[in-house]
Parts: sequence; C-alpha cells; structure tokens
Amino acid sequence: MKKLTLENKLQAAKALLEDIKSLHTPGETVRIMEVCGTHTVAIFREGIRQMLPEGIELISGPGCPVCVTDQSYMDKALAYAAQEDVIIATFGDMLKVPGTDGNLWEAKSEGAQIHIIYSPMEIVALGRQHPDKKIVFLAIGFETTVAVIAATVKMVAQAGLDNVFFLVSHKLVPPALRALLDRKERQLDGFLLPGHVSVIIGEEPYRFLAEEYGIPSCIAGFDGLEILAAVRDILWQRKSGTYYVGNQYKSVVASTGNPVAIQLMKELYEPADDVWRGMGVIPKSGLRLTGEYARFDAERMLPLGDMGEATPPKGCQCDKVLQGLIRPDECALFGKECTADHPVGACMVSVEGSCAAWYKYRRTS
Ligand code: SF4
Repeated sequence: MKKLTLENKLQAAKALLEDIKSLHTPGETVRIMEVCGTHTVAIFREGIRQMLPEGIELISGPGCPVCVTDQSYMDKALAYAAQEDVIIATFGDMLKVPGTDGNLWEAKSEGAQIHIIYSPMEIVALGRQHPDKKIVFLAIGFETTVAVIAATVKMVAQAGLDNVFFLVSHKLVPPALRALLDRKERQLDGFLLPGHVSVIIGEEPYRFLAEEYGIPSCIAGFDGLEILAAVRDILWQRKSGTYYVGNQYKSVVASTGNPVAIQLMKELYEPADDVWRGMGVIPKSGLRLTGEYARFDAERMLPLGDMGEATPPKGCQCDKVLQGLIRPDECALFGKECTADHPVGACMVSVEGSCAAWYKYRRTS
C-alpha cells in the first residue's frame, strides 16, 4: 500500500474532522468507549481528544489485560510462588501487579523462583531444565494471546512434559461489553472496538451490540486516521439510525476473523465464567482448558484451597476506571501516592493501563 505523506495525512485528518463535526449536534454529549488499552495510548499520542468537537467524549474501558486480571488471581500466583517446588513463569509486566499481600517482584526479591519469559514457548525448555520442579505459567490476556498460548499448551503436551501447568485467566472482550451495557452505570453511545482482538475473532461476535442494544461500534487500527475514521463511522450510525459493526481495519481484520486461531481456541478451551478486576464475575467471559488439555490446568492439578478474600489496594479506584465510571485523574491517589515509578494499582502498572497512559501524556498535554 502506498504510504501517505505528512501533507496527505493532514488533509485526510482535516476532512475526517469536518465530517465528524457535521455528524455531531452541537451541545449533544456522545460518549464513545475505546475498549483497548493500545487505543488509549494511541489516542493520547495522536492528540485525538483535543481534535474532536466539544461534546464527543472518548472514555477508556477495560482493555488492558494486566489491569483486568483480578486481585484474586495475583493472590493465587503469589501462593504458588511461595511453594518451594514451584517456578513461576511470567511476562515481566505482571511482576508489579499488586496482590493482597505484596507482588511477585517483592516475592522474587525474597527468594521466590520467578522466571521472566519473553515468549510462552520458553516454558517448554524451562520444564525440561527443571524436571524436579513444577512450572506454573501465568496465562492471561485477551483473545489476541490465547492462540499463541494454546499452541504452547500443545507443545508442552507433545514434549511429554507433566511438570508444566497454566494458571489460566484469559478474558473475552464481547461478554465484557455486554456486561457494561447491562449494568447501565454510565451512558455509552458507541464502542471503538479493539484492533488486535478483532484480528482473531473478526466482526461476528460484536453483532449483538447493534442487533440487541442498538449501539454503534467500529473496529479500528492504531493510526490516528483509522481512529478518526472509526469515530466518524460511529457518529454516522447514530445519526442515520443504522447500526452495524463498522470496520476501519479491514487490511488485517477479516469479518470472520482468523479461523486457525479460532479453531485452536475451540480445541483446547471451553468458555467459563471469569472474574474481572472491579467488575466481578462476568458469565462466559473467560476460558478453561478442557478435554485432554485439562491436565495442564494449574488450578485443577495443584489446588490451593481456600484463599480468603482478595483486598484491593486502599484508595485505588481501578474498578471504576476500568468501567469508564471515572477518569484516572479523578482518583484521589493519581499523580500523588500513585505514579508510574510507584504504582498503587494495576491500571498504573501496565503501559497499556489507563492510569499509566493518563500519567504519561495528560500531565504534559
Ligand atoms: Fe488505582 Fe493509581 Fe489508577 Fe488510582 S491512579 S485508580 S490508585 S492505579
């Protein structure tokens, strides 16, 4: 595809903003939730909020995989980390996510065996290197990462390893959108749908937004023009009363998604109720290893017993931030007790977290 020059881009942005203005009624408030944390970062980076007419609000939603991983999951990870014969394998961004009593970073400094990995495939080697240990991999993430982790589970099975387990808390985006709409805690007039997740699942799983709720939505990429085009699409749907799942990321998102990844997910997992940070249990919003792969499920194979109640950090309002009920800077701890260097809650820990994005960009914009 031919690359746009800066001048072409500016002209295209100007034209999109003209359209957006013409589709918006002055004085009307339109709240569009950007579901994906990468969109939150892109919206700040490109200065999209400042470009939009007054009244069109972009609200950050529950689209950061680390942030929505519940406190109780971190408590389980810490409980496994405390066992002498367990090695925790995890991506680095989970280390500072708070559990009720500390985090994995602190556990590591106190001697827990925590191995930071860069690719899930590394756990096959880890399992072979430590046959006398149990390897517990922290398997979190949205639909985007499920396929690659599913492929890893298969590799572990093919390698004949019986000491590798997966602490699974994958999250599915469509049930979370339904939960947000059913709770009716905040007016939402449209969804900017996540690009990466949509590459896997396609357009189909979002159709209920239009058909059952009469809510416009549009899949977008991460370029400023793609985001503006998606906002225009959402406003057009509102104005015309014609609702569908728009797609401004057609270069990589097919309407049917990625059939190989979808098949892999179906082969290894079954839908399960799952708990989201601040949102509680959402029906069928998670996945559980099933069939012959259930033997790799850490919670089934290495039960922890009663874990007690998970308590979030005092004063942290990630629960409200993740549901778009408050802006990060409306949390009393934002920029004071809670900063990028000293994060209090999960939304400040992850680079995709709303609080981290607001902290990085908002303070200077
Ligand atoms: Fe939690 Fe910090 Fe965000 Fe407040 S600013 S909601 S304490 S992560």
